[in-house]
Amino acid sequence: MDAISYERAADIAGAVRAAQQPGAVFIGGGTNLLDLMKGGVERPVRLIDITHIGGLDGITTLPDGGIRIGALVRNSDAANHALVREQYPLLSQAFLSGASSQLRNMATVGGNLLQRTRCGYFYDTAFSQCNKRALGSGCAALEGHNRMHAILGASTQCVAVNPSDMSVALAALDAVVRVSGPAGERSIPFAEFHRLPGDRPDVDTTLRPGELITAVDLPTPIFSAHSHYLKVRDRASYAFALVSVAAALQMDGERVHTARIALGGVAHKPWRASAAEQMLNGQPLTQATLNHAAAAALRDARPLAGNRFKVQLAQRAIVRAVNQAAGRAGGVA
Ligand SMILES: Cc1cc2nc3c(=O)[nH]c(=O)nc-3n(C[C@H](O)[C@H](O)[C@H](O)COP(=O)(O)OP(=O)(O)OC[C@H]3O[C@@H](n4cnc5c(N)ncnc54)[C@H](O)[C@@H]3O)c2cc1C
Repeated sequence: MDAISYERAADIAGAVRAAQQPGAVFIGGGTNLLDLMKGGVERPVRLIDITHIGGLDGITTLPDGGIRIGALVRNSDAANHALVREQYPLLSQAFLSGASSQLRNMATVGGNLLQRTRCGYFYDTAFSQCNKRALGSGCAALEGHNRMHAILGASTQCVAVNPSDMSVALAALDAVVRVSGPAGERSIPFAEFHRLPGDRPDVDTTLRPGELITAVDLPTPIFSAHSHYLKVRDRASYAFALVSVAAALQMDGERVHTARIALGGVAHKPWRASAAEQMLNGQPLTQATLNHAAAAALRDARPLAGNRFKVQLAQRAIVRAVNQAAGRAGGVA
């Protein structure tokens, strides 16, 4: 059995200081970290409990009309907060599609951002091949069970996907992650927060050692009238996404003024479908345009033996999510 020390951080500075100790990790709700520790995937020496730090558990408005969600806000509280429900319904839907109500009551926004992949080979230490767990050991999923795995942006080192629903909505909304670390505070645009695997699949994000996530900022709400989060999964609840789509539109009558589309369940990070967005921007939202845009979004897909179905599934999910965001019924390509 490994010995672990536990300490409660009273404030941000104390947490950042404590994190400088060897083997220290922050613990939020613990819903991911404790599972990883029980499975022997992560072996921290010191747990720095950040849940008693004041001032990080609220949702406030920003001068530009956006909102700031504290890193310690529980997923349930964020999903049900009036500002989120009314101004960012896409995010509320994404939160509510994740995990179970018990888990959402515990899970924090900061922890959700850093939850690790659900690849079975990563979680099961009986498999010696996992570059994410042990760099250079190989990737068992490449030739193994890869139904849930990536079809975009993967490398020969890792084909795992990011499992967070919240993060897919945050990607579409162009959120900004605020962090505090030994070198001070900084803000990370959401597109730069999570990483593609490349040859360092063990590194999930661009967070630097010892940095504490303090909040997530959302820009002025311009998509509240037209957005939809669609999650396609094996069970109707309590299951990770096979494919998910966060669609947000600014409509000008029947014409799309601005489209934002992000995909989940397809890549190592929430995947912005920029080519599809460009094909929709400024165009009348016809079924033909939408079908072309959905096809463009998956043009670079490289499916594995077990997940070829995801390409068409993702295209159809984009069509359905965008139609629903526009206030039209269903509409499968
Ligand atoms: C059975 C099950 C089903 C699930 N289904 C889904 C699902 O369908 N969709 C979905 O999106 N999620 C799902 N989840 C994942 C769940 O959303 C995450 O476990 C949760 O969001 C993690 O938040 P936490 O506060 O508990 O993080 P913790 O477990 O406390 O921490 C996770 C990681 O984040 C780090 N960390 C935490 N807070 C901070 C911070 N402020 N700054 C820096 N580092 C920090 C920790 O050190 C750790 O590395 C599921 C989980 C389980 C167990």
